[in-house]
Amino acid sequence: MALAEFELIDRYFSPLIAAQNRGDDCAFLTVEPGCELAISTDTLVEGIHFPVGADAEALAWRALGCCGSDLAAVGAQPLGFTLALTLPAVEDCWLEAFSRGLKAAVQALGMPLLGGDTTRGPLSLTLSVLGTVPAHHALRRSGGQVGDQVWVSGHLGGAAAALDFIEQPTGAEALLACYWRPRPRLDLGLALRGIAHAAIDISDGLLADLGHLCAASECGAVLDAAQIPAHPQAEALLGRTRAQELALIGGDDYELCFTAPTTAAPTVTAVSEQLGLSLHCIGELVAEPGLRWRNGDEIGPLSRRAGYQHFGSESC
Ligand code: ADP
Ligand code: MG
Repeated sequence: MALAEFELIDRYFSPLIAAQNRGDDCAFLTVEPGCELAISTDTLVEGIHFPVGADAEALAWRALGCCGSDLAAVGAQPLGFTLALTLPAVEDCWLEAFSRGLKAAVQALGMPLLGGDTTRGPLSLTLSVLGTVPAHHALRRSGGQVGDQVWVSGHLGGAAAALDFIEQPTGAEALLACYWRPRPRLDLGLALRGIAHAAIDISDGLLADLGHLCAASECGAVLDAAQIPAHPQAEALLGRTRAQELALIGGDDYELCFTAPTTAAPTVTAVSEQLGLSLHCIGELVAEPGLRWRNGDEIGPLSRRAGYQHFGSESC
């Protein structure tokens, strides 16, 4: 992008970067003694991770929300992020909207822009987020213990349900907000340090991500059918069965799934009240590997292939 690259960076990105990190070959951060640096990178490609022709302002928020969620999952305090942007062309209108959305997300999430890279090519964004956790206090996928309760934050399936309404959003605004403006649960991640045994963010769907947590913790889980918090607007617009199915397998929710001993339940409830965020106990970790559902006395397998149709049935 030769000359235009520097003008573009100066106009649209440098104003978002703190003076001490602007325009040098690297950004500089001070990491407190006794802290570990948490780092995660995500790439979003047009046509794969977001629709072709997506609104630039919303896209910027979504990118930072998705990537910031990895810091929430490990209980890290955000330090900031870098942005590698690949653009097919320099369009002022698009860049203005994009940097406006990015500025709003930076302020709302408290995650400063540190630097990045700008190149020409098919539209894609790569963000690396950085945060700190006191040494040995990060929430990990592998810490789950048999007998732990399994919790999820907020409601699930809203972002997946939004995909049916991207072209015609009227009446589905709450779902569209789940998709375009994910709120990484950074405060929850911080509050769960020392309380949760294990945690993961739900980016690929509850079944997939809880499956990862169970595999890392070398255990399985049994979920209570009636306790899965499907998104209320998905239930209203798509029906309970479809909403429950999306709550189990839909991606892009960026809520947290965590496990904690039953003795911690009152503390988890206090965290929920303090943050004004609903936290739902949806089941427990068990020794037998794999995921199963429970509905009263009935119990059955739970996977993308087997059983979630039954799990989501109207009788739940
Ligand atoms: P280099 O060639 O040494 O990699 P660049 O010309 O790519 O340097 O970048 C110059 C400065 O602009 C760096 O401080 C870099 O972090 C910043 N920068 C470039 N692109 C972006 C971007 N998309 N967002 C934020 N900062 C950027
Ligand atoms: Mg560069």
